[in-house]
Amino acid sequence: MINYGKQYIDSKDIQAVTKVLKGDWLTQGPNIKKFENALKSKFKSKHCAAVSNGTAALHLTGLALGWKKGDTVLTTPISFLATANCILYCGATPDFVDIESSSYNIDVQKLEKKIKILNKNKKNIVAVIATDYAGNPCSWKELKKISLKYKFHLINDNCHAIGANYQNDIGYAVKYADVVTHSYHPVKNMTTGEGGAVLSNNYEIIKKINILKSHGIIKNSKLTSFRTKPWYYEMHYLGYNYRISDIQCALGISQLKKINKFVNKRQEIAKIYNDEFELNPACKLQEIEKGTKHAYHLYPLQVNFDMVKKSKTKLFQYLKKRKINLQVHYIPIHLQPFYKKNFGFKKGDFKIAERFYERQISLPIYFALKKSEVYRIIKLIKNFIKKSK
Ligand SMILES: *Cc1c(COP(=O)(O)O)cnc(C)c1O
Repeated sequence: MINYGKQYIDSKDIQAVTKVLKGDWLTQGPNIKKFENALKSKFKSKHCAAVSNGTAALHLTGLALGWKKGDTVLTTPISFLATANCILYCGATPDFVDIESSSYNIDVQKLEKKIKILNKNKKNIVAVIATDYAGNPCSWKELKKISLKYKFHLINDNCHAIGANYQNDIGYAVKYADVVTHSYHPVKNMTTGEGGAVLSNNYEIIKKINILKSHGIIKNSKLTSFRTKPWYYEMHYLGYNYRISDIQCALGISQLKKINKFVNKRQEIAKIYNDEFELNPACKLQEIEKGTKHAYHLYPLQVNFDMVKKSKTKLFQYLKKRKINLQVHYIPIHLQPFYKKNFGFKKGDFKIAERFYERQISLPIYFALKKSEVYRIIKLIKNFIKKSK
């Protein structure tokens, strides 16, 4: 079965993990700092905290920034649920801004309009979480401008875009956003099994996250009690166990070395899809800005099913029979029953996102996918589209 995404593990990864298993520390050992340092230098970040997963990275971000009841945090409806759920974990109120029909990222002009309306209604906007959807960086320069003008924190949910470049810079995420979150789930561009990280140039934020990811415990301090009592620890904040293990970090170090290779292969596959679907009147491709290197966590294709006169369900069934599993990214978050029930969102609130959802499919894209498989997928989809005309 071919799925939309899959990890790639080689003998070096296995060796790295085996070495930890034979050593003294399975969890809080030396590989955590090593992995954090490797992430810092790869993504040009001054500070980094590796954590248990991408959702924990988002939750810790909100906690470290002090989101609370009465605060509003804006995000995109076209992202994974965790991007919005983390706002609720902190007791703040989530709200959404529609996407651009070309990049599928948060629409910066609509964002500014929304901020003006919310400000009039005396809402306290403390942050915006933008997702580099599929691996295509948002308009970060413009987002930064707005964040400075209206004074809120900018968060890059960078889970899709690990290895992407914006304005020819792989360090763009930390450069423009106050906080950047990663996930290393096996479907992402590199993996640690479960895992994630928070990156930032702000020392205080990462320091707080390091305390909060381990129960809110402080072990080292210059205070007298710490100096005279070797066993001493104090808890100042309500923290969690959101730690990552040494085993996972050893895998992460080994995987990170391959990230360029991984992303380049994803680009090769994407180029084949682009060339084949670009001129098809029933299809629409994601548009990419100049200077961008798309990381292609996903390959989103829009198919005009009305024009094709066959449903998306039919296409899924047709391909499933031929051992290919498509996926859809995403059902707009505001249309989830939980968000409709608790916040009154409804169909029609974010029309571009909703139409995108109707047409979007994620084609298989991952390092181990063979070119012959890519051409077979293309042939089948073209056949499905053509047959129905
Ligand atoms: C995968 C993902 C997450 C969550 O990461 P986990 O490691 O699965 O918790 C959050 N946001 C986006 C955009 C993601 O793709």
